[in-house]
Amino acid sequence: EEKILKVENLKVHFPIRKGLLSRPVGYVYAVDGVSFDLKKGETLGIVGESGCGKTTAGMAVMNLNPPTDGDVWWKGKKMADMTPSQMRALRRDMQLIFQDPYSSLNPRMTVNQILADPMEVHGMYKGEKRKERIDYLMETVGLSPEQGTRYPHEFSGGQRQRIGIARSLALSPSLIIGDEPVSALDVSIQAQIINLLMNLKSEFDLSMIIISHDLAVVEYLCDRIIVMYLGKIIESASYASLYNDAKHPYTQALLSAVPVPDPLREKNRIILQGDVPSPIDPPSGCRFHTRCPRKMEICEKNEPAMKEFDKGHTAACHLY
Ligand code: SF4
Repeated sequence: EEKILKVENLKVHFPIRKGLLSRPVGYVYAVDGVSFDLKKGETLGIVGESGCGKTTAGMAVMNLNPPTDGDVWWKGKKMADMTPSQMRALRRDMQLIFQDPYSSLNPRMTVNQILADPMEVHGMYKGEKRKERIDYLMETVGLSPEQGTRYPHEFSGGQRQRIGIARSLALSPSLIIGDEPVSALDVSIQAQIINLLMNLKSEFDLSMIIISHDLAVVEYLCDRIIVMYLGKIIESASYASLYNDAKHPYTQALLSAVPVPDPLREKNRIILQGDVPSPIDPPSGCRFHTRCPRKMEICEKNEPAMKEFDKGHTAACHLY
């Protein structure tokens, strides 16, 4: 199968400076050696608590914050070697959906103008084609073309996220990255937007990366899930595999917090002690050892290697 995206040993370290021009006194190890890939038409979930590096990893894939180290390949081309025109094509081909649709939509533009803007920037869908395209996008996300003359504040939260999604589709991208795409919405509206994304994915054969702190959100959308903790991937599997047989104690704790619809299938909630440690000075060995209920002596000293369990199910933990 065709891999459209490959990320290898990606690192994003942000320098900490006391003054604007002074030498760095330390680094935030936001993403610290992350590797994954994405097949055409696949949806990948990146899950973890805030500060685990999931958003930074997503932005690095779009080259919005350039990696400190490691490589990203897009459709077989190494991003670091791309020419400016290849880079422009990539910007068209990868689009973001933001968490807060309101702050990402220009309040002084009508929806028609918001949707026309990316087409103008990239010189696509000119003349009459543009209005046709805008009307088509509105219908695709469940809005009516007549609503295009209105401004963002005239819409509800869920409708605004639909507008954000329409804008992300404007240039027919191959990859959509959603950064907490439903977290700002009411639970009842979340389901509608998740359904919309699922429909779009099959209709347009889109690849997607969904970044979320909420395993329940990625459950429906994603074929495969990566769990991150303090800048590293600690487990990766299909949702079914993860749900039925999570290996890593951190994943087990995250899953134990997802509500189950079936009250007979009772779960013991695993409560983690303390907060996520600072990514400026991450713990030695296994980065999760300060909070792990199953910590052993070796965990403080040695970093666990990634092991493969079933096909495509990997985890890094000394228990195995
Ligand atoms: Fe816990 Fe040790 Fe496994 Fe880390 S390596 S998750 S500390 S048991």
